[in-house]
Amino acid sequence: MNITELTVHELQEKLKNKELTITQITKAYTDRINEKEKDVQAFVTTLTDDAIEQAERIEQKVNNGEITGDFAGIPIGIKDNMCTKGVKTTCSSKMLENFVAPYNATVIEKLNNENIIDLGKLNMDEFAMGGSTEYSYFKKTRNPWDLNKVPGGSSGGSAAAVAANLVPWALGSDTGGSIRQPASFCGVVGLKPTYGLVSRYGLVAFASSLDQIGPITKDVYDSAMLLNLIVGHDERDTTSANFEKRDYTKALKNDVKGLKIGVPKEFFGEGINPEVKEALEKSIEKYKELGAEVEEFSLDIANYSLAAYYIIGCAEASSNLGRFDGIRYTYRTPEFKNLKEIYKKSRSEAFGPEVKRRIILGTYVLSSGYYDAYYKKAQQVRTLVMNEFNKAFEKYDVILTPTSPTVAFDIGSKSNNPLEMYLADICTVSVNIAGLPGISIPCGVDKEGMPIGMQLIGNKFCEETILNAAYTFEQNVKFRENYKPEFKGGAN
Ligand code: GLN
Repeated sequence: MNITELTVHELQEKLKNKELTITQITKAYTDRINEKEKDVQAFVTTLTDDAIEQAERIEQKVNNGEITGDFAGIPIGIKDNMCTKGVKTTCSSKMLENFVAPYNATVIEKLNNENIIDLGKLNMDEFAMGGSTEYSYFKKTRNPWDLNKVPGGSSGGSAAAVAANLVPWALGSDTGGSIRQPASFCGVVGLKPTYGLVSRYGLVAFASSLDQIGPITKDVYDSAMLLNLIVGHDERDTTSANFEKRDYTKALKNDVKGLKIGVPKEFFGEGINPEVKEALEKSIEKYKELGAEVEEFSLDIANYSLAAYYIIGCAEASSNLGRFDGIRYTYRTPEFKNLKEIYKKSRSEAFGPEVKRRIILGTYVLSSGYYDAYYKKAQQVRTLVMNEFNKAFEKYDVILTPTSPTVAFDIGSKSNNPLEMYLADICTVSVNIAGLPGISIPCGVDKEGMPIGMQLIGNKFCEETILNAAYTFEQNVKFRENYKPEFKGGAN
């Protein structure tokens, strides 16, 4: 048995049947990390020694009956923008290179309560700004399907680690696609929950009205399980929704008969790679075969979502990143003459080019004289996007699109062209703008064997609908059984 290839629900099964022990599982993962991390570069911080110690402790307590619970001793990886007490939380930035969080994010607290074991903090684009993980200050993560390609971003470390079996599952964060797009590039499952469903307390803020934490997993069942663990009202996050808790695994019925699926034609036009389009068309046929009713419709406001996203996202980022001033908990320039110089030099020296670009853009769109033309306009577009989705959900249960217009691209091919990089988000940003849930699941591969992702979008708090739609597809198409990452290519 290859332990690290198993899903979390399979691991649970084996633990229950005593075919595996908690320490065997953790040990298998730490061995795998030791073997493969040099190729994939998914971690900023590994906690392998701690993890083994923890596993031994938890195993003993489980054996003594002191701990019960289905998740005790299951390992996980965490994107490095969620605060973990006593462990570095860097946001892959020089600014927070030595920042050790003094508290846990709410999601971490919840995982700790289940005695889940943290294998380490996963690489990302600096402050979650980017779509390829190339903007990390520390390292470039590689795509396990082809090491010369990007894993997507900004949660590229999380998606690559899951795909490469370095962790059984992971948490990512999604502001404009950062869970779904890397999941699509790495052939795994990524779920961005409804805005407010998962507490943002302790998630380092990028754009507060868009950010959400969510699961990146090998399959849809694991996605539903991890969602179960992290949802819930939190009074420490004022935007946290007071939504009644449920067991999302119960929604997985392997049945989409009568499900109404809307396909917005704008997502299949110019700029979509023909092989991606073909794979999506095949998937649509599959849904029809399975009894879903599929119809094409127009969501033309989506054409403006990307512009609105980059204005709102940058505006909020410029305000949120104001706290990194060289005084508290951040990098401080070694030489300065006065306070202003501390600010200026610390920020100039410790933020990377993409972060600076967004701070400058955001400050500009918020400045008096430009506010009405850009920020206010973008907020108005946001309302229109929400209205159009509301209208669409009167007719459809699920909206189906590609997750990304392309498969994973070559490392270095877009990193100097921000506009092209931004276009990689064209299919995902509308979901954040409207606060909706969206899931990406693998639906095929291109000629070179790179995974293609399909996105299913649901109405607010209708995670169950998209999870079931995704699950049904997965059960009938069996992507994981047919394709596996090959670690093609080598270091360049
Ligand atoms: N790639 C998008 C961006 O650069 C999305 C980022 C995210 O979701 N965190 O803004």
